[in-house]
Amino acid sequence: MKKVLAFDIDQTLNVAKTPITDDIAKLLIKCLDYFEICPISGQKFDQFLIQIVDRLVENGVTPTELAHLHLFVAQGTQYYTYSQTNKKLGPIGIEVTKDKTPYDPSHWRQVYNYPLTDEQVQKITATLEQSARELGYWEEDKLQDGDEIIENRLSQVTFSALGQKAGTKEKYAWDPDCKKREKIVARCKELSPEFEYEIGGTTSINAITPGMNKVFGMTHLLEELNVKKQDILYFGDMTQPGGNDYPVVEMGIDTITVRNHEDTAYALRGILGVIS
Ligand SMILES: [Mg+2]
Repeated sequence: MKKVLAFDIDQTLNVAKTPITDDIAKLLIKCLDYFEICPISGQKFDQFLIQIVDRLVENGVTPTELAHLHLFVAQGTQYYTYSQTNKKLGPIGIEVTKDKTPYDPSHWRQVYNYPLTDEQVQKITATLEQSARELGYWEEDKLQDGDEIIENRLSQVTFSALGQKAGTKEKYAWDPDCKKREKIVARCKELSPEFEYEIGGTTSINAITPGMNKVFGMTHLLEELNVKKQDILYFGDMTQPGGNDYPVVEMGIDTITVRNHEDTAYALRGILGVIS
């Protein structure tokens, strides 16, 4: 049996950039009793908390279950686990049982981090902006207050054509066939070929240093969890060549391609139905 279920986030566990549904939260909590659960995505740590962890807490996840959740942030260039090391003593000096310990967000521990240099961030930012401007896809006028198109996510730089705060509907409509982003990526590769550019989410391009894609994250996952490739089942929506889940397919990890979180829920019900 597989030991690890790994998941892309946007369009695999949720509607891009929104918290997971109660249905997905409950299924993931059940899965935490049988598997190590590893979301891996280009997003930042705080988004992992908002979109996944907070929803699990609302749906009654226990700290013991959370210990089986492994957050591979920024495509796995940062790794976080939930530790129960700050154990509290009960009123008569006996350790309170783990499951009665309330969830405490300060218990998340960063295990490793591989950030880009300032110089790399500047070069990538300039490249993305120039490419988008040249092609007429620099949509600054559509940004909401305080939002930005290019965001430094420490281990990667992310271009989000309409910013982070744009509505889901607008985002879906902007580039449904990925053609705009493919053009931007092609121009970026001419300007700064030393970086890699991946299409993800609905309006995003992630720029990274070569090798800092999901292969990096999955390779570290194998090491950190001490498992083999065949122990992992990966769920993603962008498993086609050029998509940000494709590197996982190329690694030879068993992959389930989903269109959306409903597909993922369907597959998880099947898996849980067989084992429980
Ligand atoms: Mg995705």
